[in-house]
Amino acid sequence: MVNMETLVSLCKRRGIIFQSSEIYGGINGFWDFGPIGVEIKRRIKDSWWKRIVQEREDVVGVDTSIIAHPRTWVASGHVSSFSDPMVDCKECKRRFRADDMPPPKKDSKEGACPECGGELTQAREFNLMFQTHVGATADSASLAYLRPETCQSIFTQFRNVQTVSRKKVPFGIAQIGKAFRNEITPRNFIFRSREFEQMEMEFFCHKDEASKWHEYWVSERYDWFKSVGVKGDKLRIRPHESNELAHYALACSDVEYEMPFGWSEMEGIANRTDYDLKKHMEVSGKDMMYFDDARKEKYLPYVIETSVGVDRTALAVLCDAYREEEVKGEKRVVMGFDPSIAPVQVSVLPLSNKLKEQARKVEKDLKGNFFSEYDEAGSIGKRYRRHDEIGTPFCVTYDFDSENDHAVTVRDRDTMEQERIPLDNLIKYLTDKFQK
Ligand code: ATP
Repeated sequence: MVNMETLVSLCKRRGIIFQSSEIYGGINGFWDFGPIGVEIKRRIKDSWWKRIVQEREDVVGVDTSIIAHPRTWVASGHVSSFSDPMVDCKECKRRFRADDMPPPKKDSKEGACPECGGELTQAREFNLMFQTHVGATADSASLAYLRPETCQSIFTQFRNVQTVSRKKVPFGIAQIGKAFRNEITPRNFIFRSREFEQMEMEFFCHKDEASKWHEYWVSERYDWFKSVGVKGDKLRIRPHESNELAHYALACSDVEYEMPFGWSEMEGIANRTDYDLKKHMEVSGKDMMYFDDARKEKYLPYVIETSVGVDRTALAVLCDAYREEEVKGEKRVVMGFDPSIAPVQVSVLPLSNKLKEQARKVEKDLKGNFFSEYDEAGSIGKRYRRHDEIGTPFCVTYDFDSENDHAVTVRDRDTMEQERIPLDNLIKYLTDKFQK
């Protein structure tokens, strides 16, 4: 299993993920995706959207604002109770999540600071929402929050979306977008950060069918992780114990991945009942009820929510793809991405500077069919090494013979085997490989 430090350094070296504001010493809990990382993230989001929205008749998408009316968060319960218990060190002033602390020793009431051994304060509740002010005044009337989850606007827009899309229950509304949580202790690279992206889908159904849909979505979501190349032996479904459930949830199962720091939540699939719609109806005074023609019944639908982090999925994909091999006494690092997730699917390399123009042309011809790249920097060995480390499934080398035989050498990332392929047949050859 890859060690986190190794992965973090590979991510920086290859332009996958950088520390945010690195030149100012970084800012804890924030990360920037580089030219390679942004492609991985984009593939993950595209794959999710395709499967959840594009390929289905019963789910539509939205893209709602990050800042919503603050009463949204009163209704959802976030203003009163979206908090973690925290403790402060009286000496070094560091802050920790109380539930991460080892239990205090027998003879003392409070624990000791894990950093400096200093005395800790009593646990206090700390609200995780970031606050801001809307408009020119900074008083309580202008107070607003950066959304801590993307789903609440799906609930508040439920009637609008249902009316215009003419969907009948059961149907879902999906969204991909940023969420913000002022986590007390961001950690484990991009696993727990303060700004991240979620892909959420709220599936509205009749309460008699909620358990059935819950089961359906748990297995559908598990299958999606496998479709982006995450291996089954590191993936599991963990149903929540009844004492773990959020107060509004009837049932919840997490999809977990075995990270280098242990089994960790990637996604939660929850039966949220009619809690959210009911709350928004109460606080806004607006009718949220749905009239079901087939059942001749007016009701508040139940909701099955699927909620997954893009960044956590990216981390699982990165950990899963990493492998080290020994080739002729040297270490080779390979990111074995599934071709559907690979940031670069094919790279075209001229063997010599004299062949640049021809190689460029080959790459141009591939562009419409694949995520391709033209790469002329450094020796061929160095270029292969870079492409192994960013997980490029195929490298195409244009050499001096290509001038005469109108063929190129295609190198397979995993087997390192090289095959001579006529240029006329290159697109078909690669397409067949990706379809396997
Ligand atoms: P955790 O218990 O790890 O804090 P959570 O149960 O609070 O997570 P949810 O509120 O269910 O998380 O959020 C849904 C998904 O959003 C999570 O499964 C995760 O993929 C992602 N997510 C939540 N918090 C963060 C974070 N701080 N950084 C990155 N992704 C996050």
